[in-house]
Amino acid sequence: MTSPIILWFRRDLRLADHPALTEAVASGRPVIPVFLHDDLLAGQGAAPRFRIGLSLAALAADLENAGSRLILRRGAALPQIRKLIDDTGAGAVYWSRAYVPDADRRDREIAAALGAAGIETRDFPGHLLFDPDSVETKTGGPYKVFTPYWKAVRGRDPGAPLPAPGAIPAPGAWPESDRLESWNLAQGMARGAAVVARHVTVGAEAAARRLDAFLDQRVDDYATARDFADRNGTSGLSENLTYGEISPRACWAAAQHPRDAGSTGAETFLKELAWREFAYHLLHHTPRLATGNWREEWDAFPWRDDPEAPDVLAWQQGRTGIPMVDAAMRELYVTGRMHNRARMIAGSYLTKHMMCHWKIGRDWFADCLIDWDPASNAMGWQWVAGSGPDASPFFRVFNPEGQRAKFDPSGGYVRAWLAEGQLAPPDTALSFFEAVPESWGLAPNDLYPDPIVPLDVGRERALEAYRNRDF
Ligand code: FAD
Repeated sequence: MTSPIILWFRRDLRLADHPALTEAVASGRPVIPVFLHDDLLAGQGAAPRFRIGLSLAALAADLENAGSRLILRRGAALPQIRKLIDDTGAGAVYWSRAYVPDADRRDREIAAALGAAGIETRDFPGHLLFDPDSVETKTGGPYKVFTPYWKAVRGRDPGAPLPAPGAIPAPGAWPESDRLESWNLAQGMARGAAVVARHVTVGAEAAARRLDAFLDQRVDDYATARDFADRNGTSGLSENLTYGEISPRACWAAAQHPRDAGSTGAETFLKELAWREFAYHLLHHTPRLATGNWREEWDAFPWRDDPEAPDVLAWQQGRTGIPMVDAAMRELYVTGRMHNRARMIAGSYLTKHMMCHWKIGRDWFADCLIDWDPASNAMGWQWVAGSGPDASPFFRVFNPEGQRAKFDPSGGYVRAWLAEGQLAPPDTALSFFEAVPESWGLAPNDLYPDPIVPLDVGRERALEAYRNRDF
């Protein structure tokens, strides 16, 4: 076989530890790296599309350094792949498995259609440490609770990360490619893109440096520091893991040495990586995790379900009058990220004090997060709302003031993100006003609002609704 192999990149935008690419290169056949702007990408939120555009530029540069190119095509995946096959005479298409229901469905249809036409298709691991089907309870079947899941995978060896291929064999002639700029992936970000762009760390090389810096400087304190919103205590790698700029296996392997040397921080880091795995395990085995209440009895709960409600807009704008919630929402808008502790606090306020459906929060995060991940976002929201497996108990209503005292003890987090009420707000807090649409009519010297739902009122109302639920 000498015909080219199409290497279809998706959420695996790297050359190192890329089993599909390694196998394609090892075949000795020409490799045609391709990324498709199909309906699934078009359906993603503004921030993820903007961020993926940056990642594609970095991948294209890495491919050129390896003597290759990134071919970009826009349109439904199957016809585009067929066209590429016609254009290049390719005899095979390789990709990394997605483990996301709609992408898996698309991939199965494509594999069937191409197989019927005599084109080989192969899918490979790489997005996860452990295939969701390979982790089973003692009685068979998937895990629904994290702690036993963690016990099951903690000692597993996902294998050593693969090196990036030195050179990628090129085809005799390259097919045509769209220009990345013509896709206008930042379009939906309105004027916020320039602000968010200051906070991104893009590409495989930067992701590897980020992992090294975390393991060199912060991992030992991670078990404690990760919870403090006013510290830089975490790895920041979610943005890179979600687009596959670094593999989870590279992170797992690098943390083994400090773990073996007794670092509890390294052990906790591995455990957090396993939470990401657990999210995919749940999504793979129960696809409704992303679309509806995992515990179906919650369908009967009287959530408020209007994403256009004025108080939802206030939550999105960071104008709830609850400083910890508002700081969190501003951090999200400016950086495309939010501290994990703050995600829980802002999520709890929306779903419990405001009694809004978690889907409203899921969708806003999906539009704003540069580390948006279909599995972790859905699991996180269902955890917060209490409708998921192994979730925070529904009657646990986070007190944002108590959380602020505990996890922002210096006040640095709220000061960094909330301008209102400060005589000289820092640039971070001011940049929110550069990023937001003019139609919001917000200014840093606005009066800070009274709480839209006072904490004691909201807590009592939520607990009352839980007491009255008929399931
Ligand atoms: P670190 O603390 O350095 O952790 C290392 C890695 O472990 C992370 O990069 C991430 O891949 C994984 N991880 C850590 N915590 C979790 C967790 N609770 N669940 C799943 N994986 C985890 N994470 C996303 O990557 N994308 C999302 O869209 C997302 N949405 C969330 C929504 C809600 C409501 C909540 C409560 C959590 C969500 N998370 C999401 C999980 C978590 O908040 C982020 O992974 C974390 O804040 C990323 O920061 P970090 O890379 O510095 O993490």
